[in-house]
Amino acid sequence: MLKCYDCSEENKVNEAVGVCIVCGKGLCTEHIKQIELPMKGGYPMSHLTLKKDLPRMMCQECIDTTLGVDSFD
Ligand SMILES: [Zn+2]
Ligand SMILES: [Zn+2]
Repeated sequence: MLKCYDCSEENKVNEAVGVCIVCGKGLCTEHIKQIELPMKGGYPMSHLTLKKDLPRMMCQECIDTTLGVDSFD
């Protein structure tokens, strides 16, 4: 089973509940971020065709770097 990448960097071990759709690393419930935003130009998943606003799982790092927002909490 996949382990949370962010936890492993803190020397913790948690089961990943999903993966970041941008960088593909495993994330636990604590580190995974679900975002629901409309598709925007420049989004890095242009090879995927999304018909509607699907919940997207991302790590905080990728949210920061790709979307330029701090948090959805
Ligand atoms: Zn974690
Ligand atoms: Zn990521």
